[in-house]
Amino acid sequence: MAIDFEIPADAKAVRERVRRWVHEECIPAEKELLNRPYKEVLDELRKKARAQGLWCPFVPKEHGGMGLGPLANALVQMELGESYLGALSLNTQGPDDATIMTLLEHGTDYQKEKFLKPLLNGEKRICYSMTEKAAGADATGMQTRAEKKGNSTYVLNGEKWFSSAASVADIALVMAKTNPDAPRHQQFSTFIVELPNPGYNILRDIKTMAIEGPYSHILGGGHSEVQIKDLEVPAENILGGEGNGFNMGQHRLAYGRLRHGMHNIAMAQRALDLATKHVTSRSTFGEKLSKRQGVQWMLADCATQIYISRLMLLHIAYKAEKGMDLRQENSIAKVYLANMVHKVVDTAIQLHGALGYSQDTPLAAWYTHIRSQRLVDGPDEVHRWTVGRNVVKAFEKFGTTASAAGGDLL
Ligand SMILES: Cc1cc2nc3c(=O)[nH]c(=O)nc-3n(C[C@H](O)[C@H](O)[C@H](O)COP(=O)(O)OP(=O)(O)OC[C@H]3O[C@@H](n4cnc5c(N)ncnc54)[C@H](O)[C@@H]3O)c2cc1C
Repeated sequence: MAIDFEIPADAKAVRERVRRWVHEECIPAEKELLNRPYKEVLDELRKKARAQGLWCPFVPKEHGGMGLGPLANALVQMELGESYLGALSLNTQGPDDATIMTLLEHGTDYQKEKFLKPLLNGEKRICYSMTEKAAGADATGMQTRAEKKGNSTYVLNGEKWFSSAASVADIALVMAKTNPDAPRHQQFSTFIVELPNPGYNILRDIKTMAIEGPYSHILGGGHSEVQIKDLEVPAENILGGEGNGFNMGQHRLAYGRLRHGMHNIAMAQRALDLATKHVTSRSTFGEKLSKRQGVQWMLADCATQIYISRLMLLHIAYKAEKGMDLRQENSIAKVYLANMVHKVVDTAIQLHGALGYSQDTPLAAWYTHIRSQRLVDGPDEVHRWTVGRNVVKAFEKFGTTASAAGGDLL
């Protein structure tokens, strides 16, 4: 198979349009947030974006999106990650985007009409409540129970925490155990819950280590601790059928992991640009920092990791385009890209000296936000465990580990 890294012309063109959109509209609009209400600024941006055909990048055209395939979407997401209004302006922000994907794939006609449509129109937001204090990395440890009341209603009781954007959401997807006697991965179902709801009681937005800006609670929506008490959900709101919650959750997480990775590349690139701008203007001991070999090595290490990251994502996008199994690469990339952005932002802080530690550059806020990347959507250790198991399996099956280490590239 010939390897061709040429990006198809249509994907290149859409990337260009989105790059211009982010630089000409989103980054300037960030400043407007200081003087004008958030909703006004975002509504204006969204109206403009939609009028230009920039809307819900991966959503099929018949549902009002741009219908981009995995490669074009990855390129677009990498651009959007440059501004914190980027993804929001195209209605492709997390956690909504991956959940939209699940509704598209598994929703009934009724669910699509009632819940998906307003999400695709940008009128509503949705959050995802799987993790509990009781269980996170091993989601099959969830304790929230759903019990049937008659034929038409389920009643849920339990707790959730770290439900991102719950406090700004109009809908929640809530996972709960419907059948404790079923095999482990078939015990859980996903329920569509309309918010606000007395049975879905947001106790607090959990204070985290992330530095908050004036709009963090709206943009990110915080991460909520939720009490689920006698929460009544109509049976028609089960998504994907009883017992299928876990598989659907994994499908959603797979996309979410890559989206984080795409945005990480954009952030890392900005951090390396900031670092390079700084070292080319700052002198110590009579010489520009950029002339020092030690500093050049630091920049080189960052460039290397960003380059590897881009290649990983392109390869995964390629596999997705072809409908190939990409689970191993997805886990490898999830861990690598989270650590990559950590390393690059950390290096940029180091090279800025005390200025990097201050909040006068965006680096400190980025640093505190990206720490979560090594935990969310499966902690590093769990992905590395899976990857390692696949290495052993490959060896046992083929006598070589190549197929678990990107070997099908060769
Ligand atoms: C910013 C943020 C946003 C989030 N958003 C959401 C959301 O919107 N919806 C949602 O449902 N959840 C969300 N989560 C929760 C997230 O998915 C969980 O935190 C994650 O799955 C880890 O679960 P846990 O925190 O319970 O850690 P635990 O399961 O308690 O694990 C603790 C640590 O133990 C180690 N570990 C665990 N298992 C293994 C193993 N098998 N081998 C080796 N080491 C292991 C890892 O280092 C891990 O970090 C969010 C979390 C954060 C931080």
